[in-house]
Amino acid sequence: MMSVTPDQFRKVGMGLTPSPTPFLTPRPERRRPDSRGSEWNSHRLDKDKEINVQVLLRCRPLSDDEQRLNVPRVISCNEHKREVTVMQNVANKQIDRVFTFDKVFGPKSQQRSIYDQAIAPVVNEVLDGFNCTVFAYGQTGTGKTYTMEGGMRNKGGDLPAEAGVIPRAVRQIFDTLEAQNADYSMKVSFLELYNEEITDLLAQEDNPKSTEDKQKKPISLMEDGKGCVVVRGLEEEAVYSANEIYTILERGSAKRRTADTLLNKHSSRSHSVFSITVHIKEAAVGDEDLIKCGKLNLVDLAGSENISRSGAREGRAREAGEINKSLLTLGRVINALVEHSAHIPYRDSKLTRLLRDSLGGKTKTCIIATISPSAHSLEETLSTLDYAYRAKNIKNKPEANQKMSKAVLLKELYLEIEKMKQDVRAARDKNGVYIPHERYAQDEAEKKARIEKIDQLENDLSLSEKEVDRYRELYITEQEGKLDLESELKDCMMNLENRNKEFLELQENHRVALSTIKEKELIISELLFSDQKDKLEAENHSMVLSFGSQLDQSLKDLHKTILGSISQQQQQLRCMEEHAHSFLASKCDATQILESRIKKLTETYTLGITALKELGNSMQKKAASDLEQINSTISSHGMAVEQFLVTMVSEAKEVIKDIQNSLIEQKQFLALSAQQQEEGLQRSLVSAKEISKATVDFFSDLYQKASNVMTMLEVSQAQNSKELANFDKTFKEEAAKEEKEALDKIAVILSNLTSKKSAMVSEASKNAQDSSIQQNKRLQREISSMQQVSTDARTELSKYVEKVESHFMQDTFSAAESRTIIDNYIEECTMKVDSSRQQWESAQSYMSDLNTKSIAEIESTVKENISVNQVAHEELVSACSSMEVDFGSRTGDIVTAVDGNFYCLCVA
Ligand code: ADP
Ligand code: MG
Repeated sequence: MMSVTPDQFRKVGMGLTPSPTPFLTPRPERRRPDSRGSEWNSHRLDKDKEINVQVLLRCRPLSDDEQRLNVPRVISCNEHKREVTVMQNVANKQIDRVFTFDKVFGPKSQQRSIYDQAIAPVVNEVLDGFNCTVFAYGQTGTGKTYTMEGGMRNKGGDLPAEAGVIPRAVRQIFDTLEAQNADYSMKVSFLELYNEEITDLLAQEDNPKSTEDKQKKPISLMEDGKGCVVVRGLEEEAVYSANEIYTILERGSAKRRTADTLLNKHSSRSHSVFSITVHIKEAAVGDEDLIKCGKLNLVDLAGSENISRSGAREGRAREAGEINKSLLTLGRVINALVEHSAHIPYRDSKLTRLLRDSLGGKTKTCIIATISPSAHSLEETLSTLDYAYRAKNIKNKPEANQKMSKAVLLKELYLEIEKMKQDVRAARDKNGVYIPHERYAQDEAEKKARIEKIDQLENDLSLSEKEVDRYRELYITEQEGKLDLESELKDCMMNLENRNKEFLELQENHRVALSTIKEKELIISELLFSDQKDKLEAENHSMVLSFGSQLDQSLKDLHKTILGSISQQQQQLRCMEEHAHSFLASKCDATQILESRIKKLTETYTLGITALKELGNSMQKKAASDLEQINSTISSHGMAVEQFLVTMVSEAKEVIKDIQNSLIEQKQFLALSAQQQEEGLQRSLVSAKEISKATVDFFSDLYQKASNVMTMLEVSQAQNSKELANFDKTFKEEAAKEEKEALDKIAVILSNLTSKKSAMVSEASKNAQDSSIQQNKRLQREISSMQQVSTDARTELSKYVEKVESHFMQDTFSAAESRTIIDNYIEECTMKVDSSRQQWESAQSYMSDLNTKSIAEIESTVKENISVNQVAHEELVSACSSMEVDFGSRTGDIVTAVDGNFYCLCVA
């Protein structure tokens, strides 16, 4: 069965508030891109990016003893897959557990390969100005110290193969910075935390007498007020070479060893922190040097077996003197960080206070978990693996320390010294707190060291400044030298050219000399070949004689030629004289011609000038008169315009008045007509009312008459019916009488006849009555319809009258409205007329103003022009006169010059 723990390495968790760097103000700094290829760098994406704590696992080999005892192995490492498998056999069942880490190093892995793969990139980060921490965590005896410190046998030369992280880191820092030829300083500190007490493992034991007290000076942790923790009184040792580290490590380890003998199993219960601080001078920006600072903490933790045991039985742990408080708190801090708790118990132990920034802060953190492959330590191994696996989820936000200038560094150091001084003073003065002598001495020594350091730094500074000055001077002198050399070079070049020329000349000379030498040699050889000297002398004598005669002859010839030439010259002189005379005569003529021409020219010129002057005068006069004329015309025009405007305005006024009058008339007329209309309407209303009244009277009369007729008809009908009834009664009585009389006689026949006759009579009367009733009814119907018609007509008439009345009212209203509208309109018209009159008046005044202004302007310009013209004219006149004078003088000059020339020539 396999249970695989998931790799949560790249999971991004909740952000944690980072605490500021232990060095400086927490101003963040832009990170430079880094080209170094390493796994760490792949996480360096940007500033705010959280990165997980790197967890590496190292499994040590079985020791010789274990091998001898054939202790079974339960761990197998797959470095390639970064997996560790724990093989367990529970109740005859194989249960393997697999853990994945950022890197896994098996039993065969060498110190060097671990360093190169896992730690070298961390050290590079430190050199880039980051703070980094490497923890070694694991059970006692699994190789924490071996990994961190390693074997320390040989000093000097190359690193031993067993050298651990600390010496290799120191070596790498030195090598890198030396290769870069950087200006840097490196300091290390080494402390031990045991039973919540900090001991400086590098402190010098200056008082060996009271060994028990002074072996390890207790050192306190202090908040620096910026949220960082500083170890007060911790010695920081400057390291100047890589090999020095062995001495330092040995000194620290020796102290631990001494303690080991005093306390049982001391090293398994103590934590040690080795810190390397590097200050690197960066290329200067401007005129300030910037200093980059990085810190590497290498932490060898106490044996992890303490944590699990005390985790189970905390009461016992406290009994044991809080040995494990730091480790316990570390576990709790890790848990709180992984679970993103609101409260992280950093303050609960010194270890977590010290390394606070390495856990969820700005420091880059790496944990090396060490395990043993032995089956005997299976339980501890599993606990270590679980612990380390959990720690993988811690996220830090690495941030580079801010670079600072040398001056700032110095200032900070001074401030620190000042603070310490104040502390000391306050402690002594205020409440007389006792300071142990060694503490005081230590503080003083520290102060001294600081001051010395500052002095040293200042010295360095002044030295480097001096050096810079020296270099500058050197540079300037070099520059001057260069200039000198350049000018010299120029001179040399010129010299060279001259020399070249000379050389060429010399060559030519040499050539010539060679040729003459050759000739001479030829002559000499010829001479050597002649026979005798005497012969030569005789030849010479004859040659001298012939030379004398020749000389005589040539002298004579010379005399002759000179004489000839003299006569020739005389002739030539004469010829020249003649030429000169003729030339002078021609010149004289020409001069006379020139003179006459000049005279003519002068005349023409004076004529021209006078003409010009006249023209100028006339022009000026003309201009003046013209301008005057223009002026008068313009003023007359202006007057005319003004006049015109005045007449126009008066006309307009009259027109407006007319309009106004007509408007008033119209108004009156309108009022009259409206009144008339009203009256007419009133009249028509009255007549309509009369008509309607007459009509109503007529209809009511008609109605009355009709009702009278009806009553008469009713009366007559009643009479008729009464008469008929009477007639019927009398007839019946008569008939009964006759019946009784004839009854006897005629008996039954007669009675029949009588009944027949009475029936006929009653029927006839009935019919008559019926028809009369019918007639009456018809008559009544007619009358009622007539009455209906008359009432209808009356109501219609009244309606009509009402309508007429309302119409009349409307008409009167509308007439009134229109009258008011017309009134308003007329009012408006009058207002407009008034305003137009005003406009006219203002326009008139404006126009007249404009007129007078423009006339004045024109007049002034005309006057100006006249004066300008006058000036110009005067200038012209003066120029003319000056020209005249000039011309006269020049002509005089010419004449005199010509005359002079002539005279001179004549004399010659
Ligand atoms: P702890 O981390 O508990 O201090 P140590 O570093 O003292 O452990 O190691 C215990 C012993 O194991 C030492 O003798 C050490 O030399 C040896 N040892 C540890 N790890 C290795 C390793 N990787 N290779 C060889 N020996 C080792
Ligand atoms: Mg150890």
